[in-house]
Amino acid sequence: MSAPAAGTAVIVGASLAGATAAFALRERGFDGEIVLVGAEPGLPYERPALSKGYLASDMPTDKLLVRDADAYTEHQITLRLGDAATALDAERRSVSLASGDVLPYTHLVIGTGASNARPPIPGIDLPGVHQLRTTADADSLRAELPGLRNAVVVGQGFIGCEIAATLTTLGVAVTAVDAVPGPLWGPLGPQLSGLVRRWHTDRGVRLVNDITVSAFLPDDASRVRAVELADGRRLDADLVVVGVGVRPATRWLQDTALHLVRGAIGVDRDGRTNLPGVYAAGDVTATWDDELDRHVRHEHWASAIDQAQRVANAITGTPQPDAVLPSFWSDQYDRSLQYVGSHDADCDIVLRGDPNQPDAPLLAFFLRAGRLAAVLGVDSGKDLRRAQRLVGQQVNPASLSDPTVDLRRLVPVAPAAH
Ligand SMILES: Cc1cc2nc3c(=O)[nH]c(=O)nc-3n(C[C@H](O)[C@H](O)[C@H](O)COP(=O)(O)OP(=O)(O)OC[C@H]3O[C@@H](n4cnc5c(N)ncnc54)[C@H](O)[C@@H]3O)c2cc1C
Repeated sequence: MSAPAAGTAVIVGASLAGATAAFALRERGFDGEIVLVGAEPGLPYERPALSKGYLASDMPTDKLLVRDADAYTEHQITLRLGDAATALDAERRSVSLASGDVLPYTHLVIGTGASNARPPIPGIDLPGVHQLRTTADADSLRAELPGLRNAVVVGQGFIGCEIAATLTTLGVAVTAVDAVPGPLWGPLGPQLSGLVRRWHTDRGVRLVNDITVSAFLPDDASRVRAVELADGRRLDADLVVVGVGVRPATRWLQDTALHLVRGAIGVDRDGRTNLPGVYAAGDVTATWDDELDRHVRHEHWASAIDQAQRVANAITGTPQPDAVLPSFWSDQYDRSLQYVGSHDADCDIVLRGDPNQPDAPLLAFFLRAGRLAAVLGVDSGKDLRRAQRLVGQQVNPASLSDPTVDLRRLVPVAPAAH
């Protein structure tokens, strides 16, 4: 065991990655000062419920907290909330804040996450046009829900699909628009997109695809009234939610020598950047992937926690455990989708289950040159856990698709490549 690391750890970004890094540093014996800096005014919280249970109910914000206020005091973590970092001076090892304060650091952890992409569509600033990333966004959306009749969701990615599902469950008539041919088309591909399409259309959602939005149109009171499509069609909208992806929050780092990969901070598996003493974790990063030979973004809850813990290990000299596979989940209506691994459009898909039965459990295996790259399960948590040990291994596709083959007994046809 190495000597406890000391000095000052400044962590910028007080959300899931930042707070996890702060507690993990203390738990691994870091005995210097820890300062957690956040642009948002409140304690660090978790975002997944914002598009699901929080939006659908009057759940209080303290149910979302990563840890309660006392835990920060007990772990001697100094909070600087409501004060954004504005600049990094990597040579002097200091971070400037909006308040004018300058914080020197020995170790810097950047966990500034991402912010919503804001497409330059005319009318996007009209009242009634929303986006969703923070509790403040969710609260202003929630305030509009009583009596709401119809809504247009722009974007059929995970956030758009979840918001469409939640609003539909609340009795709102939802139309969801996207330029791609179907929901979750990019992340899941055509076949599985068809399954997700049925979840929505069977519950009354109108999906409009292969078309872009050209404008948000106001009523006489200058509130959004309709969404205009590129072909001139107009969709009635008492409310609009725009969920068309995110951008890593790195604008404050643009004048530095930090290596950015399409706007995200390029890091190694343990969160090290190209600058000495500077680490990053969570949605703000693009992590080097040896197998794919490129940096990959994992904008998911579990990745933020895993990366933050690896950064704390790196700073304190704690041995790193084996890398965990990237994973995420999404809940839409009563359907629960879970995913483990990392695939791309070159992978072959093998299904266990019938995608034409939209309410039945299903497993989808993504194979790259015969090796299992990722598994997706719909309402199949137990089988997904059984299958995930095969990720990285050469497996027989016929056994994967055969529901009579017990996944616990399935053995790889060749060992994992390293
Ligand atoms: C609505 C919603 C639903 C989601 N659902 C799921 C789900 O079902 N499953 C799943 O796996 N993942 C889900 N996610 C993704 C998951 O929440 C994110 O991966 C996770 O929040 C990433 O944590 P983070 O700490 O890296 O970044 P963030 O949560 O984005 O936090 C970054 C923080 O840094 C702050 N910040 C930014 N710039 C500065 C600055 N210059 N100075 C100081 N502070 C700054 C921000 O204000 C923010 O508080 C969801 C996300 C959203 C928005």
